Amino acid sequence: MTPDSRIYAYSAVLMGSPILLKLFEHNESLASGVFRLIKLQESTFTVNRPHSDIMAINHAAGRDPVTVSEPVFELIRRAKAISCLPDSSFNFTIGPLVKRWKIGFSGHSIPAAQDLQTLLSLTNPEDVILDEHTRSVFLQQAGMEIDLGAIAKGYIADVVRDYLRDQQVENALINLGGNVQTLGAGAEGAWAIGLKKPFASPDELIGVINVTGKSVVTSGIYERYFELDGHRYHHILDPKTGYPLDNELLSVTIISEDSIDGDIWTTLLYGMGVEKSLEYLKQIPHIEAVFVTHDGQIILSSQRQFAFTPLDDSYRITTY
Ligand code: ADP
Ligand code: MG
Repeated sequence: MTPDSRIYAYSAVLMGSPILLKLFEHNESLASGVFRLIKLQESTFTVNRPHSDIMAINHAAGRDPVTVSEPVFELIRRAKAISCLPDSSFNFTIGPLVKRWKIGFSGHSIPAAQDLQTLLSLTNPEDVILDEHTRSVFLQQAGMEIDLGAIAKGYIADVVRDYLRDQQVENALINLGGNVQTLGAGAEGAWAIGLKKPFASPDELIGVINVTGKSVVTSGIYERYFELDGHRYHHILDPKTGYPLDNELLSVTIISEDSIDGDIWTTLLYGMGVEKSLEYLKQIPHIEAVFVTHDGQIILSSQRQFAFTPLDDSYRITTY
């Protein structure tokens, strides 16, 4: 990927991630508008600060329903619906487990099996009561905690895309640290998004995904983890066991129109594993996936909305 003089890049650290915005014009005020918007969204959805719209719901768990804004209510409604799908590995009430493990934060540790059992009883998504008329959210049990970490970045990436569109921007890229959303085709006929080499330095790529006006979301077990006694504990938890999801996958990348879908599907497919995912994806043509496995395979579900260029000979490519 050669640097292109027509592209202006703006960066910031927000939501605990490096954020990158690429524009086709030098426009500081547009860039600040984007970063302001992301900050505003972050302050709404974060659970890593004492106060936010989501923390207000969590603080009132077992006590009161909390009325929220329309977009917050809609996102929670969506998160609940996905969490309640049969056998879903996505669970937005996973908060108590995430807080206990502290993976990716200081103070991480392996919880006792008994603790996990206790905390698991606080993660039933059916215990989140939504009232459309009052737009309120009620966590039925004290100690329950919503965590939108697996969906919020995707949602925000789409909010940024819509904002840029409203500003008549036709060509841009926003990367929220693993969640990429694009407008237009970039400088070279398509935007090029690198697929990172697992557990290598961030600039080492095993391939490039080319898209036009699509989202590319990657969730990998090498992003946030800690190691203890030869075991690796990463940040995507299995809602059934309370332990990190363990299968053949190192990462799942989703190519889709909306980044929120990418964020949802990376987590869902992560739990399904490769074989089941490939079967499932046959029925949903607008969602496409790239899997990277422990045994050095890159598996492409299909390539309708993107092109893939491999960059590392040590990986075997399979296309369906
Ligand atoms: P990232 O972009 O940081 O990799 P993901 O979309 O993979 O984020 O979501 C991981 C985050 O979602 C975790 O940091 C945690 O806050 C939360 N989480 C962990 N396990 C689950 C799960 N099974 N379902 C829903 N959210 C989860
Ligand atoms: Mg996700």
